[in-house]
Amino acid sequence: MSANSDPNSLSMADSAAAPACQRILVVEDNADMREFLQRILKRRGYHYVGAVDGAEGVALASAERPDLILMDLALPVLDGYEATRMLKANPDFAATPIIAVTAHARAVDQERALEAGCDAYISKPYSIRQLFELIEQFLPPAT
Ligand code: MN
Repeated sequence: MSANSDPNSLSMADSAAAPACQRILVVEDNADMREFLQRILKRRGYHYVGAVDGAEGVALASAERPDLILMDLALPVLDGYEATRMLKANPDFAATPIIAVTAHARAVDQERALEAGCDAYISKPYSIRQLFELIEQFLPPAT
């Protein structure tokens, strides 16, 4: 059995997909979703940071200085719209891409997300490929 048949091993293509230093903050209250995103982001070569609500997301953004934020909108304590407004009002994060994760492909949610300052949105359910295509619009993969 070759090393490549181990699903946990990184192929050359996977490990070259993203510069190892790029940090993605995932703000998501669903533990299963966080675990899933952590797995696929790490496999792609990103550094993962996870926050469970909007307030923790804002705090961890300051502490961890992510290169991109994946922001669920329906969150406890502080929702994704408010967390995005707070981050985008801070000059430190004005240029940090924030991708909103909307629960449904509802135009009203998508418009609100952009009004709050999100740079893009993706609607659940999304494919891993769709997610990485969107992330790579903001964080181009290493060549
Ligand atoms: Mn949620």
